[in-house]
Amino acid sequence: MRIAFLGLGAIGTPMAVHIAKAHDLTVWNRTGSKAEAFAVAHACSVATSPRAAVAGAEVVITCLSTSAEVEGLLDGPEGLLAGLGKGALFLDCTSGDPGTTRKIGARLASIGVEFADAPVSGGTNGAEAGTLTVMVGGSDAIFQRARPVLECFGRRVEHMGPLGAGDAMKAVNNALLAVNLFAVGEGLTALVKSGISAQKAVEVLNASSGRSFVSEYLVPERVLTRLFPVTFRLALLDKDARIGAEFLEGQGVAGPVLHLASALLAQARAELGEEADYLAPIQLIEQEAGVELRG
Ligand code: NDP
Repeated sequence: MRIAFLGLGAIGTPMAVHIAKAHDLTVWNRTGSKAEAFAVAHACSVATSPRAAVAGAEVVITCLSTSAEVEGLLDGPEGLLAGLGKGALFLDCTSGDPGTTRKIGARLASIGVEFADAPVSGGTNGAEAGTLTVMVGGSDAIFQRARPVLECFGRRVEHMGPLGAGDAMKAVNNALLAVNLFAVGEGLTALVKSGISAQKAVEVLNASSGRSFVSEYLVPERVLTRLFPVTFRLALLDKDARIGAEFLEGQGVAGPVLHLASALLAQARAELGEEADYLAPIQLIEQEAGVELRG
């Protein structure tokens, strides 16, 4: 199948590797050198514009920072709308916002292009392993058409509901991740400051009811080891938590906890900058307390 993949960032790149193994792939990336290097490494084609990337493609996949960037690629002589063919399937794997996704979907529908939001969870490791969870928003027919393509990098590919439902699911998921990130960071920091070893505190937490993805995986692998790899930008988690908080508002759910997590992320982003990793706020908590969570 002819597939175009646009957006070779931290997670888009390993996702596109799986597509390259199974399909006739063309890649495009804003910073062209990344696309050129990818095409050489994975024996696929490289395009110099979004229009050229999607011309003749049966399926188009985007994985950009936010929905605004996806919307920004639509127009202009070299934009997506100039290249997309009637009948194409467009899957947006960006962790987007439901409102913009529905706007994009309406524009694409008017030119006969099928569209679904299909954000992913599982991190760069999950993308490399091809074990991502994919949360799809769109009609049943579009989901059935999209599923085999998304299974190239997804282990659990789930239809959440109409257009925007995938984005909503992903935003709430990441808002919960943010809550746990701050909560685990704060709790462990206090325990260590009181004299309990970080290793023991994490082990006991993970054998108890307060455990979470943050305590079971992220803290042992990235914090206690002091590795703090940069795999997912804090700026992107901030965007997700904000979308999550807005989604709650739209549903008439007050959501003070998710709003607070969103506000804390915005504050950390302002302090740490656009390139910091999403676990860096734990280092801020440590610094403020004057201790480190070391294994
Ligand atoms: P990165 O910041 O690593 O990459 C962003 C990508 O978007 C790059 O290809 C970048 O191009 C491109 N881009 C940014 N702005 C524009 C623009 N104005 N026009 C065209 N292209 C643009 O992000 P990730 O790969 O980490 O994340 C991508 C999406 O996936 C985000 O929505 C994120 O929330 C989500 N996600 C990320 C996960 C992760 O672990 N990293 C996990 C799950 C979801 P360029 O190379 O030129 O900068």
